[in-house]
Amino acid sequence: MAQYIQIKAQYPDAILLMRMGDFYEIFFEDAVIASQALSLALTKRGQFQGKDIPLAGVPAHAADAYIAKLIRLGHRVAVCDQLEDPAEAKKRGSKAIVKRGITRVVTPGTLTEDTLLEERGANRLVALSSRGGVLALAAVELSTGDVEVLEVEPAQLGAQLSALRPSESLVADRLMQDETIYPLLKMYGGVIQPQPSSLTDPASGEARLLKLYGVSTLDGFGTFSPAEISALGLLAAYIDLTQAGKIPVLKPPSRVISQNYLSIDAATRNSLEIDRTQQGKREGSLIAAIDQTVTSGGSRLLLSRLSRPLYQPAAINARLDTVEWLLPRRDLRDALRHAMRSLSDQARALSRLSLNRGGARDLCIIAQALHIGEGLANALNDARYETPVDLAGNPVTAPQEIDGIIAALVPSLPLSQLRGKLEQALVEEPPLKLSDGGFIRTGFNADLDEARSLRDDSRQVILALEQRLAAETGIAIRIKFNNVLGYFIELSQKLAEQLQAQDSEKQFIHRQSLANQVRFVTTELIELDGRIQRAAQQGLALEMELFEQLRDEVRLAAAEIQTGHDAICALDVSVANAVLAEDWGAARPVIDDSTRLEICRGRHPVVAAALKAQGKPFTPNDVDLDASGAESARLSLVTGPNMAGKSTYLRQNALLIIMAQAGMFVPAKSMHLGVVDRLFSRVGAGDDLAQGRSTFMMEMVETAAILTQASERSFIILDEIGRGTATYDGLAIAWACAENLHDVIHARTLFATHYHELSKLEGRLKFVNNLSLTAREHNGELIFLHEAKKGSADRSYGVQVARLAGMPTAVVGRARDILTRLEEDNQTQLRLDDLPLFSATRPPEPATKTPSKLETTLKGINPDDLSPKEALEVIYNLHKLL
Ligand code: ADP
Repeated sequence: MAQYIQIKAQYPDAILLMRMGDFYEIFFEDAVIASQALSLALTKRGQFQGKDIPLAGVPAHAADAYIAKLIRLGHRVAVCDQLEDPAEAKKRGSKAIVKRGITRVVTPGTLTEDTLLEERGANRLVALSSRGGVLALAAVELSTGDVEVLEVEPAQLGAQLSALRPSESLVADRLMQDETIYPLLKMYGGVIQPQPSSLTDPASGEARLLKLYGVSTLDGFGTFSPAEISALGLLAAYIDLTQAGKIPVLKPPSRVISQNYLSIDAATRNSLEIDRTQQGKREGSLIAAIDQTVTSGGSRLLLSRLSRPLYQPAAINARLDTVEWLLPRRDLRDALRHAMRSLSDQARALSRLSLNRGGARDLCIIAQALHIGEGLANALNDARYETPVDLAGNPVTAPQEIDGIIAALVPSLPLSQLRGKLEQALVEEPPLKLSDGGFIRTGFNADLDEARSLRDDSRQVILALEQRLAAETGIAIRIKFNNVLGYFIELSQKLAEQLQAQDSEKQFIHRQSLANQVRFVTTELIELDGRIQRAAQQGLALEMELFEQLRDEVRLAAAEIQTGHDAICALDVSVANAVLAEDWGAARPVIDDSTRLEICRGRHPVVAAALKAQGKPFTPNDVDLDASGAESARLSLVTGPNMAGKSTYLRQNALLIIMAQAGMFVPAKSMHLGVVDRLFSRVGAGDDLAQGRSTFMMEMVETAAILTQASERSFIILDEIGRGTATYDGLAIAWACAENLHDVIHARTLFATHYHELSKLEGRLKFVNNLSLTAREHNGELIFLHEAKKGSADRSYGVQVARLAGMPTAVVGRARDILTRLEEDNQTQLRLDDLPLFSATRPPEPATKTPSKLETTLKGINPDDLSPKEALEVIYNLHKLL
């Protein structure tokens, strides 16, 4: 208990799992929490300060699953292991306590176990700090060694956090009080861990980084601002704490220059369902529809490219070149994919090895990956020289990226020697647990071979002994083995009595009596047992030593292994994009610095794929915008009845921009895109009631953000602005927004609206045109054509849609009557031709009535200030007022 209390004091906010033999035991308050969270039996053990000590426990071999569950519930778990063999402790005296210490603290952002990680997702730990008014974010993915750092403007924090999707965020204490920052963290930051200011000092941060990277200066990694160093320093401190001093292999921090990327704010990312749907599922998202990668590293890279598309045309074109080069080389692609499919997750294996959590299997994964990598390089190299000229006789040069990949995959001499050594050393399928031994091949190490043959010979000797004893006694003697007794003879009660009766020399020594069995040993057996165990232990110790040597060699080569791994991921993504381009008949977008967006016969990647799966066609659509207004409209107003395909059309164009700037071919006949700096989408968001904001308020907040942040290089989709309020308000707001986007911001915009009145803007504003998604009524049926055509919609077909939705016939019929009546009545038509806009037709405000007591009371309540108990009281009081 003294040992427990001392260790627990160092990790007060983590649930402490204390290794006791085959179990991890959990005490005190932790035991109560864990027993509830994990449905474990809560018992007690001994007393502390006169009170029973609550106890719960989990078997050590199954601990990972329990830890995972605790992590998912938002706890941190400190794992305390036995640091010596209990036999060692016994040597110090019968009362000596086994040495124990924390071997790691498991937190959501620092997981490395495959069993605890999502294969295709990233698991990031992020740190947020500020210095001299500059805000910086640093992110590490411990399981792959990727480290990023960037400065962010407060207005961009939401966009950056939602791109990184941290599992856990370390936040400088000071920033926790910031009213703009904290809500963003709460929404996108995962589990938040406030960090004391003492850890944010750049000087000590730098010292921690030097230690983490084992270098004497950071200059080799580039220059970083004090805020960036401070954020990186927070990561370093946390890694040190959670990994109990073990140092993971990390890549040098890569500095992200925000201006080099397309910025997508959090709301837009959500509404476009890039990596998950608004319901939080991967299925139905853009990534799920387009991910053709075959390795988990490739899948993670594709996700990161889609989360953060590029902005520089040259960089985008470099990626597109690779896809284009791979596109006609189908055999090469097949061969590459076939080889990559058999790869295991190399990056994660390397990280486990570096944190002493790896096993022989991880070494095998590294060796196999090096082998496959070399094969990939050879295949690419051959292909590079295969077609020196194209059909027109022009020389074909491989894209730069392909050359880079080949260079990264051809190993240096030491690395190929290491691979040879690993292949010689390790058996093909090593056992799961290191402690089982048996992972080193026979013939690799002479001492090990000797120890093993000694062990195996002794087994033969045991067999021989069994036979001899059986012959001597005439009893069917069986020699068995278990971990407690070692080798022993086991006989049924009856045979045991028979044996003892005839054993005049007392050769058989009684060891143990069970219900039906009796166990004996002989001096010879004890001696043999000792010999076998010594040989086995010696063999195992040798194997462990060899493992550690190999692991250290792999660690030393980590940087080169990682470079090769990154190249494989990039290759996987490019090949996958080529496969997708072929499957979809996709086109290479023309990317430049212009202000155009011209898509011919574009398709929505997710909706089209879903319809295809159901055997239904998708209607392709065009878009033609130019921010400068020189070539075409700057803003298209999209009208059309509900269900006509307006939102699909809007989102489709935004998604195609994301794909194009991520360096992918796009599902369209052609696309010309002048790079977009920021993408904004205001598409019918779900109510954000938990945030206490009404739908209309949310809509206005998001629209305000667009109007203040968009530039003429931005692309904006706005859907049904103003719907959440009264008709006149809504129309007025929508009108004013459209004017502002057109006159002031100049951004390329698709503006869907159900206010047909807005179509009057075409002609009034120079660079606005009307598009409509049409429907036709045929024999009383409504047919949606899903076709975006020039011109505005003639009517909204709301009543027909109501009928489609299964409204009772009587209601639909009545609605039809009312509609006809209203249409006849010219008074209710808005006369937008006479500006000033609404003054003429604006109906009087409804007469204000005195609010009831109930209303006044309700108004006086601020739900955010109430505790659950107070809320209940309020309900009772309100009820009384009825
Ligand atoms: P709106 O926003 O106008 O109400 P949606 O964009 O939600 O309409 O589209 C309604 C449905 O019509 C979608 O769920 C989709 O199945 C179908 N749809 C939309 N666009 C197309 C298209 N271009 N081709 C085929 N079906 C489409």
